[in-house]
Amino acid sequence: MRIFDPHIHMTSRTTTDYEQMHAAGVRALVEPAFWLGQPRTNVGSFLDYFDSLVGWERFRAAQFGIAHHCTIALNPKEANDPRCTEVLDWLPRYLAKDGVVAVGEVGFDSMTDAEEKAFARQLELAVEFELPAMVHTPHRDKEAGTRRTLELVEASGLAPGMVVVDHLNEVTVEQVADSGCWMGFSIYPDTKMDEHRMVAILQERGLERVLVNSAADWGRSDPLKTAKTGAAMLEAGFTDDDVDRVLWRNPVEFFGQSGRLLLESVDSDGDAGATFEGNSILRGPRA
Ligand SMILES: [Zn+2]
Repeated sequence: MRIFDPHIHMTSRTTTDYEQMHAAGVRALVEPAFWLGQPRTNVGSFLDYFDSLVGWERFRAAQFGIAHHCTIALNPKEANDPRCTEVLDWLPRYLAKDGVVAVGEVGFDSMTDAEEKAFARQLELAVEFELPAMVHTPHRDKEAGTRRTLELVEASGLAPGMVVVDHLNEVTVEQVADSGCWMGFSIYPDTKMDEHRMVAILQERGLERVLVNSAADWGRSDPLKTAKTGAAMLEAGFTDDDVDRVLWRNPVEFFGQSGRLLLESVDSDGDAGATFEGNSILRGPRA
């Protein structure tokens, strides 16, 4: 099983996670920019974090045979803090970089005016940089938040096929399916979506435009949830090819629209070689 986790926050994970992910078949991932738990108090704090996503974390992942990509954005939560919003002016510098495969996570947290303004501005940037957008849906008021999200996406002029609306469940999937946007599902240990509910959705709706991720971060979460979803699919009668489509080819198709995937060193059998070592960006602190 080869796996591309399209949403996982490796900054908050250990080397043991990297080892176990590789053993389970993970060969590529996307790490979306998000909040850091502790609120940021200035723009420099974002820039250091973005630098680490495009440099250090990619180097760390490569040591474990995993191709690391990221998305860059002002996240919805911190869009409410006037000390942070200036970072919007710095985004273009990062959105031009290799391995940055989308604008994200953008979207709503508490559905405030400030969040809406930052969201709309960042959808404009996605259009300008011809990048996909990764959209976070709020954990509360999910249905209303998803509806407003889709209105803003439509108004932005960004093609629905360039947008993934993430953290969906049985209630919100319908509106997103109808919109033509990609449907993202985060599989968690004990809240929200689990792998068996995910399999039921795949049985009902099919495999098209579906991305499955672990969204693992500092909270209770499991970086192997993608592999566990693949196992649950096989148990339910899906084929190896179905699993490969959902866990590998779909994310490659979606993020491939950026023209910036770094999969040259990942063999077709999912084995990532050591070719990252020659990459100049990865001349890291260990050199
Ligand atoms: Zn996330």
